[in-house]
Amino acid sequence: MAKRDYYEILEVSRQETAEGIKKSYRRLAVKYHPDKNPGDRHAEEKFKELGEAYEVLSDPQKRAAYDQYGPDAFDARARAGRGGGFHDPFDIFRDVFGGDGGSIFEQFFGGGTRSDPSGPQRGNDLRYDLEITFEEAALGCEKEISITKPDRCDKCNGTGSEPGAKIRPCDTCNGRGQVIASRGIFSIAQTCPKCQGAGRIIEKPCRGCSGSGRKDRTSKITLRIPAGVDAGSRLRSSGNGESGLRGGPAGDLYVVLHVKPHDIFQREEDDLLCEVPISFVQATLGAEIQVPTLGEKATIKIPAGTQPGTLFRLRGKGIKNLQGYGHGDLHVKINVEVPTRLSSAQKNKLQEFAAACDEQVNPISAGFFEKAKRWFR
Ligand SMILES: [Zn+2]
Ligand SMILES: [Zn+2]
Repeated sequence: MAKRDYYEILEVSRQETAEGIKKSYRRLAVKYHPDKNPGDRHAEEKFKELGEAYEVLSDPQKRAAYDQYGPDAFDARARAGRGGGFHDPFDIFRDVFGGDGGSIFEQFFGGGTRSDPSGPQRGNDLRYDLEITFEEAALGCEKEISITKPDRCDKCNGTGSEPGAKIRPCDTCNGRGQVIASRGIFSIAQTCPKCQGAGRIIEKPCRGCSGSGRKDRTSKITLRIPAGVDAGSRLRSSGNGESGLRGGPAGDLYVVLHVKPHDIFQREEDDLLCEVPISFVQATLGAEIQVPTLGEKATIKIPAGTQPGTLFRLRGKGIKNLQGYGHGDLHVKINVEVPTRLSSAQKNKLQEFAAACDEQVNPISAGFFEKAKRWFR
């Protein structure tokens, strides 16, 4: 497949400055970040592509090589295994945003408070693995889950201080949470030993939470799972992660879905496949058969002389597309069942039938043996 031009991917001109490239990359990477587009494969591809383009164009040497030789300069090296391959796109994303592996939401909403230890701190994100049935994934569902996590302490409202008692800035570090220690000619910043980096002293710690401001609590959360999700889909339940510290916002809860296999349907993206057995008489003479779908039953007409493996497509009877692009199709694959355990009367009838058959009746095998004749010597 031909590679798209890196400048085009980053939506910049070939003369763009390094700063301009970085700016454009930041904007686009946020737009296509998987956390913002859960389950969207197109966005995921875009995000990877952006990482690849940015890795090259942000490096003056690689950019010069790219300008001169195009993407082949890198492909060839990658094939030769000399380190020309690309990084994980998340690495570059983190480099640009200066994060340490957190999600973009941490970066943009309430994050970036690490430099101020006594300030509000966002709660951690949590992951919850949930198994749902095939139908629930296809049709959507509501699920109530029960989760135990650190929540804001009711008694002190998250402050960690006994109601009415004082909280004062730490006098050892003047509220900074860090003290400077001298080691010969070096000065080293250390966590304040008095307040353990909190920057403040709680005179009477809350008795409900021992001063942490949080208490483990089990809460029930209702998840609305949209139709069309698949195994591995990740849903974000905003604000349902661990509660924040010192008035910081709560983290998010990420629900990772696992889907149980179905008895009769298989799934391929938004399409469904179902294998339906029919008798050889139905296949021979034609029939109208009922086939299962995820909704109401459907009927298909099997024409006379239908061969095993024949596929029938029922448009729109597949799974609803998660991004709202209609429904997939249902593919019905015909399987012809060979009768077993026949009575002698039934066998006699079949033998009578076979005696009356000629090449006209079985053109496929007649044709095959005609072609295979010379291999039977
Ligand atoms: Zn408390
Ligand atoms: Zn201190």
